[in-house]
Amino acid sequence: MFGFTAGAECLRCGAPARVAPVAGSKATMLKRAHEARGLCVNCAVHDALRHLYPANLILEQSGPKALALPHIQQQFFEICRMAGTDAEFDEIDWRAIIAHWDLPFPSPVKRTATNPVTEEDLAMARQEGEQRRAGTWQEPLTAEEYQAQRQAAIDDVFKAARKALHEDP
Ligand SMILES: [Zn+2]
Repeated sequence: MFGFTAGAECLRCGAPARVAPVAGSKATMLKRAHEARGLCVNCAVHDALRHLYPANLILEQSGPKALALPHIQQQFFEICRMAGTDAEFDEIDWRAIIAHWDLPFPSPVKRTATNPVTEEDLAMARQEGEQRRAGTWQEPLTAEEYQAQRQAAIDDVFKAARKALHEDP
């Protein structure tokens, strides 16, 4: 549910939203809603990311900074396009996604066939990442090295996901 309709707003961030179903849509990621209840496109991107294993774990550890990188954004959207999506790349506001990163979702992350981690697992990863970035975790990495390592890991995950989708029509 993206865009604007009077009275409709995003369940998570409260941004104005629009009911705009796409006829015959087969989208499995970023699908437009048929009723005035749902997430704006930015929260829908974050929702897809928090269910995309293992990028979800890495992003909880690293925080959302890597999402400001254009090649990370492009790779994520490529995954969405291959999975079918009603969204356009240009309507995604990545700065809003990062700014709203800590807002709660109306429903917790659930285990699926492709995602083995739950909301609790993600919370633990987030805590671990915060300790590492704060330097209270004993390891021979600086905060910058850790951040760079996490960004490279997200890059690898997205590349692997794109490759898998290419090989699995
Ligand atoms: Zn939203």
